[in-house]
Amino acid sequence: MQEQVPFFAFRNFVPGVQQQLEQALVQAAQRGNFILGEEVQLFEQEFAAYLAEGATALGVGNGYDALVISLKALGIGAGSEVLVPSNSYMATVNAVLHVGARPVLVEPDAHSYNITAANAENAIKPSTKAILPVHLYGQACHMNELLQLAQKYNLSVIEDCAQAHGATYNSQKVGTFGDAAAFSFYPTKNLGAMGDGGAVVTHNAMVADYVKQYRNYGQKQKYIGQLVGVNSRLDEIQAAILRIKLQHLEQYNAERQRLAKVYLQELQNIGDLILPVTAQDCSHVYHIFNIRTKYRDALQTHLKEPGISTAIHYPVPVHLQPAYTFLGHKTGDFPVAEEWAQTSLSLPLYPGLTEAEQEQVIQAVQVFYK
Ligand SMILES: *Cc1c(COP(=O)(O)O)cnc(C)c1O
Repeated sequence: MQEQVPFFAFRNFVPGVQQQLEQALVQAAQRGNFILGEEVQLFEQEFAAYLAEGATALGVGNGYDALVISLKALGIGAGSEVLVPSNSYMATVNAVLHVGARPVLVEPDAHSYNITAANAENAIKPSTKAILPVHLYGQACHMNELLQLAQKYNLSVIEDCAQAHGATYNSQKVGTFGDAAAFSFYPTKNLGAMGDGGAVVTHNAMVADYVKQYRNYGQKQKYIGQLVGVNSRLDEIQAAILRIKLQHLEQYNAERQRLAKVYLQELQNIGDLILPVTAQDCSHVYHIFNIRTKYRDALQTHLKEPGISTAIHYPVPVHLQPAYTFLGHKTGDFPVAEEWAQTSLSLPLYPGLTEAEQEQVIQAVQVFYK
């Protein structure tokens, strides 16, 4: 009888971490200071230092809020257009709509799955105010080209780093290229909390100042509303968890890369399978290991029989989601995104996935094509 292979599971990959995390929870409970205290401040400092010298990180409620607040901090709102990849998760597009701006979808590169400067340039209009590259599945976008484009057209750059904690472009970590960057600490992300969490990262003091106020009702001093803000704070318990996990992020990512290498090795030249490609100068931290085949649905069913769970990122592209009909798109508008929605399948890949489990996945895929 074969064991089940979950698509994702929390495993005690670095021995002892689970106890450290439980201890941190108890300590936070005993300390009794739950909002914007020492843990948040220390995590912000440590996360910023991990990313780049001179960066500022500010904890917020989740990755979605980090996007919204970054856009607001840069003055993106009604009348602005924002370039976003046509194949991202809905959160990216929702954030643009949330601030009153118009998301303009751009087809990504056929190999890296990431937005390119060449495609983005074709979509630029006088009302284009920002570009929102998503380091999708964990692979860094080609930031040099995107930054040059942004400079040429005077666009703000907001990086969506929700899937790419620790990924690099030319050895520089994502989240440190643009005017602002949004991170999510949703539990299953490469750096995940035990609940919701997020951060805005920036080198711009004005952006940092805005975020610091906006996340806490616009207060600079207690009870003085400097601007109309919201409540979107990272809480102390999550910050305490994240401080521990941050210490192991490089090790977690290295394990993801090792597991990816095994898949890439063992699944090459099989049937019509298309394996993920890492672009030159970009690193990939494999938040998602996405393969593509025109037999996707049959393969997913075949894997499910012995209990191997997979996922689809994402089954319906943004422009065909029921919620976005008002944007006026139709089938055929973004053929690349549409094809990927029909062919993409994500295999189990996470720190703690055992050799036996991975072997089971590989063999099941091989058998499917025999
Ligand atoms: C997870 C994710 C988000 C949103 O993060 P939350 O913390 O769940 O709000 C945004 N963009 C992308 C690409 C994501 O994967």
